[in-house]
Amino acid sequence: MDHPKTRKEAQELGAKFYFTGEPCVRGHIALRKTKGSCLECVKEDWAVDNERRKEKPKTEAAKAAGRRYYEKNRQAVIARAAARPAEEKRRNRSDYKDRNVDVVRADTSVRKRRHREATPKWLTPAERLLMRDLYVQARKMTELTRERYVVDHIVPLRGEAVCGLHVPWNLRVITQEENLKKSNKLVAPSTTT
Ligand SMILES: [Zn+2]
Repeated sequence: MDHPKTRKEAQELGAKFYFTGEPCVRGHIALRKTKGSCLECVKEDWAVDNERRKEKPKTEAAKAAGRRYYEKNRQAVIARAAARPAEEKRRNRSDYKDRNVDVVRADTSVRKRRHREATPKWLTPAERLLMRDLYVQARKMTELTRERYVVDHIVPLRGEAVCGLHVPWNLRVITQEENLKKSNKLVAPSTTT
């Protein structure tokens, strides 16, 4: 491509860019904007700005706006999240875990307690082992298929009408997506009334 060699030349020709072939102050050999600086420098500055914006904590107003958007568009948000490539989902999940170590730890301990409380004392060791196997199975399915599998309580442990038990015959391995659809349905009536 033929670019003017100096800014002056570019200005005279009305060109947006020029190319000197010389390194800029940061050492890039790149196009320069007639009304600005080296394009590579601009890119670098953008990247830095982007990172800074990500690190900045969200204001309460921004968080509230996000929550309002989610409430209004719950189905669409969930559908969009489910449609993302597996690789991206995995990355988002592990980023979330890194950013929210305390929340994740608290969730895990609540879940463990609920499971413990919903497990009948009379369950045999073999039955307990069977349940552990289902969790192993879910993890293996996730690894094999690159789709996230979870262990679902067929009758929810904290259902509106009845509370299910943490027993092998109330458990099944399903995809996270199916599980979300299910919880969606269960939640829907109470949010619409
Ligand atoms: Zn540069």
